[in-house]
Amino acid sequence: MDHFLYKAGALHAEDVPVPEIAASVGTPFYCYSAATLTRHYRLFDEALDGLDHLVCYAMKSNSNQAILKLMAGLGAGMDVVSGGEYLRAKAAGVPGERIVFSGVGKTGEEMRLALEGGIRQFNVESEPELVLLSQVAEAMGATAPITIRVNPDVDARTHEKIATGKAENKFGIPISRAREVYAQAAALPGIEVIGIDVHIGSQLTELDPFEQAYLKVADLTKQLRADGHTIRRLDLGGGLGIPYERSNTAPPLPTEYGALIKRTVGDLGCEIEIEPGRLISGNAGILVTEVIYVKSGEGRDFLIVDAAMNDLIRPAMYGAWHDIVPVAEPAAGVERQPFDIVGPVCETGDTFAKARPMPPVQAGALVAFRSAGAYGAVMSSEYNTRPLIPEVLVHEHQFAVIRARPSFEEIINRDSVPSWL
Ligand SMILES: *Cc1c(COP(=O)(O)O)cnc(C)c1O
Repeated sequence: MDHFLYKAGALHAEDVPVPEIAASVGTPFYCYSAATLTRHYRLFDEALDGLDHLVCYAMKSNSNQAILKLMAGLGAGMDVVSGGEYLRAKAAGVPGERIVFSGVGKTGEEMRLALEGGIRQFNVESEPELVLLSQVAEAMGATAPITIRVNPDVDARTHEKIATGKAENKFGIPISRAREVYAQAAALPGIEVIGIDVHIGSQLTELDPFEQAYLKVADLTKQLRADGHTIRRLDLGGGLGIPYERSNTAPPLPTEYGALIKRTVGDLGCEIEIEPGRLISGNAGILVTEVIYVKSGEGRDFLIVDAAMNDLIRPAMYGAWHDIVPVAEPAAGVERQPFDIVGPVCETGDTFAKARPMPPVQAGALVAFRSAGAYGAVMSSEYNTRPLIPEVLVHEHQFAVIRARPSFEEIINRDSVPSWL
């Protein structure tokens, strides 16, 4: 459930009519609902009720400072994947002991940054990373708390670009070699082993792959304890999917996911961490765009909108579906007609939807792409010198611009021209 509903004939974000925001900030723009973000965080938190747990929001899905501040206020931890994200989390007031550092390519510089500022744990993904982390920590007179990310070799049955738990993926250490690598970790002076980490992919729409992975983690916990390691924390990753196409998908609910966690690893006496991103921020955001032209083509008609692949790359990159709805509520039972919905960027990849049945829309109409709160703004670029689009956060009847649209002057002045030109 989210808080983008039609009221009095217009799409609203909570209690604010979307056309009012459009009139104030111009199109295109991202619009997020604070109530939806809050609700989604709490669903996870409550699903793990009864377990010692921390929900670490995977901030790569949407890392606007205002969103982070909101999450921090709810008590969320953060899953960060770069030094930049670490600094953003700190700037939003998240204490180091609630920040976990994931990612396959952490640099020595990033490790130092996190050890200096405080860190809950590093989720280590390879032996060379373990060695470097130990060196960095030792040189600082510190010890780095770690889990090792194991790759359980399960098929997450999701899009190939966001599946991470198969043996051929670049992530983690093969679970078959875990005991050997834990032994190596335990012998390193700058390392303190505290647990196990697993994350098998994103946009999972069934629970079975999680179950397979978590059962393997439960077995490994027992083996590693028998080997003499302290395993007191399990980081179970993120990845629960959202219904991008509301008419025909219903992924598992956080409550069912929580019950699965309790069933598979709940009796090990470990502190449980999860790292949801998409399920917290995805349906908490829409992208609002204006139809520039309605163009008739050969055998197909186009809606050319003022948002493009640089603003929301998911359809071009993953062939992703977004529900697309007119902001003015269509009359009940109105006839729909197929349109290709495309942006102005000079490549055919700039297509949001093909032959999408749409109610009648005219040039100048506003349309909204739903489920755009995760992996939307954060993956955007200024390709074609299209300024990064503003982000707006709604809370009940109020809204605020939480990232302004840059001016063309700012964009141009970001480059510098050498004196010899
Ligand atoms: C991307 C990522 C997540 C979040 O995945 P979602 O599908 O957005 O929930 C969590 N943990 C790690 C390590 C990730 O790389």
